[in-house]
Amino acid sequence: MKKISTVGVIGLGNMGKGMAQSLQRGGFHVVGFDAVPTTRIALTGEGVPCVDTIGALAAEVEMVVLSLPTSDIVEQVVLGEGGLLQNGKPGLIIVDTTTADPNSTRKVAAQLATAGIHFVDAPVSGGPKGAASATMGMVLGGDTVIIEHIEPVLAVMSAKRVHVGPIGAGHVAKLLNNLLAGAHLIIAGEAARIAQAAGLDPERIFEGLNAGSAASKVTQFNYPTWIFNEAFNSGFTMKLMRKDFRLAMSLIDETAATTPLAKEAGRLWAKSIDSIADPEDFNRIVQYIEQ
Ligand code: NAD
Repeated sequence: MKKISTVGVIGLGNMGKGMAQSLQRGGFHVVGFDAVPTTRIALTGEGVPCVDTIGALAAEVEMVVLSLPTSDIVEQVVLGEGGLLQNGKPGLIIVDTTTADPNSTRKVAAQLATAGIHFVDAPVSGGPKGAASATMGMVLGGDTVIIEHIEPVLAVMSAKRVHVGPIGAGHVAKLLNNLLAGAHLIIAGEAARIAQAAGLDPERIFEGLNAGSAASKVTQFNYPTWIFNEAFNSGFTMKLMRKDFRLAMSLIDETAATTPLAKEAGRLWAKSIDSIADPEDFNRIVQYIEQ
């Protein structure tokens, strides 16, 4: 397989922009595309050349990274008119970092395989900062030979990569990651309210928790970084997290696993649309009180 030197990035939002810049810093020739023309112009101005069509991008690259809001959009970009299936050469490798529906991922991969195009699901953790500083965590689903081949490219985008299984397994792992993180935010919010109602300082109590077995990313990182200071500017929205919870609930339904606590967390995340709007920061869930 030919060594990869040119990488396309489709979807240049909070995550995709940082990934494109990390790839460029890592020595790859990068070409960007986003549906929004002003986004393409802005990133070109910042030194990452962007093209106006997916076809123009596919003509230049050996690998494409997708960072898109939903599976529907991934399907449109890959399988739709003027998309990667129509324009990609055999041997092209598509790496999907979108948090997506594993069923859609398997369908897209199967269709691409008929044209000799490879697909790897590689959803990420670490937020826009992690994307920009190449410190993301990545869970990979797909063929071992392809994943080993793209390792030098993934290595300049992320700090840790775990190959968790066949195609779609990365997206399953990511949904479980966000299910756990989102459920933990809810229970941590409840702990903070209990501490306050007991007349204590939640920040001091959380310092205590962080010295004990309840310590987690939520208590050690989300709370001091975005919640206690009321910054709520992580760059990850309620809308995207509610999408992830919907997908996690579908996964539970399909597998018929017994998950009373996960289902209650899913119900609360869905219901939170009542009072926390889509563009709000996902950490706002700690303030949600069902009416
Ligand atoms: P975003 O909304 O900031 O960016 C998405 C980008 O995709 C936008 O620039 C949009 O214009 C572009 N886009 C939409 N439709 C398109 C199309 N048809 N063709 C080309 N471009 C199109 O979202 P984000 O926060 O960057 O998240 C991207 C993905 O990464 C999501 O699946 C999200 O769940 C996941 N994710 C986000 C975070 C985070 O902290 N923001 C962390 C981990 C994973």
